[in-house]
Amino acid sequence: MEPSGDSGPQGIEPEDLGLEAVFRRLIGATGPISVAHYMAEANAHYYGRADPFGAAGDFITAPEISQMFGEMIGLWLADQWQRAGKPALSHYVEFGPGRGTLASDALRAGERFGFRPQVHLIEGSSRLRQVQHALVPQATWHDGLDSVPREGPLLIVANEFLDALPVRQIVRAEQGWRERVVVHNGERFLPVAGARPMDTAVPSALADGPVGTILESCPAASGMAYEIAVRLKAQGGVALFIDYGYSTPQTGSTLQAVRAHQKVDPFADPGLADLTALVDFAQLKQIALAGDVDCLGPVGQGAWLMALGIGARAAALAKSDPAQAQALMTALDRLVSPEQMGTLFKVMAYRGPGWPQGEGFGEANV
Ligand code: SAH
Repeated sequence: MEPSGDSGPQGIEPEDLGLEAVFRRLIGATGPISVAHYMAEANAHYYGRADPFGAAGDFITAPEISQMFGEMIGLWLADQWQRAGKPALSHYVEFGPGRGTLASDALRAGERFGFRPQVHLIEGSSRLRQVQHALVPQATWHDGLDSVPREGPLLIVANEFLDALPVRQIVRAEQGWRERVVVHNGERFLPVAGARPMDTAVPSALADGPVGTILESCPAASGMAYEIAVRLKAQGGVALFIDYGYSTPQTGSTLQAVRAHQKVDPFADPGLADLTALVDFAQLKQIALAGDVDCLGPVGQGAWLMALGIGARAAALAKSDPAQAQALMTALDRLVSPEQMGTLFKVMAYRGPGWPQGEGFGEANV
């Protein structure tokens, strides 16, 4: 879908010449910008302009594939809440809720078990807040966790949220390690090694990496995960992170751009494509340790959904609406099969003190 440009009263200003012009002016006036700065602005712009989801948009996410995805998450949360003793006051908190589909499916499924939390949506785009309002009218919206109530346990969900946060990249140049920055060569933007030495920011085990090695990190995701851990420790609850990523540390850039369901150059047309980077689950595990909460997983999305009974749910839905049976099986396959979203997408949970072992993560805590 082409972003429409008419972003409504709270959207970006009409003097929106395009982010490209803004970046060129900025780089011309003050020098190269970091990859993190580039990604942060490009995504803020991208999500501020349009509803990018679905077949007609740029990409499709699990909750948009089938209601079964949100339902499984709702059942998982309701099960946690029940086994924690059904606290009367609890909060459903979702980061980056997109169209609100996941929240709406999860809350409907949870309600059947008496799970009726207050609903808090953390969303940066005012345009998407309006879309979410249509499906989840009872919600309150927040810029971050800070304004979410500090009393009552938090049941937190973040699906394909952390991957949208800006990554910082450090690259090994001839002269040493440098921040990876973005310049404009008169024709296009491109990433290069910056001027400022970064050698002290590189772990000693990696310091001698070959020229061209890239180390990627996501300070924004790390900061947010730590904030979540601290809040779970203080007020109880659980957090589910679902995203595509890796569980053992790796090097190299994972920055990618998707537009109209095609991979495109992340440095072309900033603000018109969705920029993502793989989530570092090993780092999220470290952060749980630092924040003193238990960490479950990561496990593959496919294995997790199957353990929660998505197969039986698909069969039940197909039985009640045979005309949809084929479509349901196709959706199920997309969500769980290893060739599709089943293994690249992973599920990890943080668990506050005293909260039960989560379904689908096996017996042991990692
Ligand atoms: N969870 C949804 C949408 C994923 S896309 C789904 O699975 O369909 C990423 C979402 O995060 C969008 O709603 C986007 O507007 C929001 N977002 C991205 N960066 C953000 C930030 N820094 N703060 C708040 N929301 C952000």
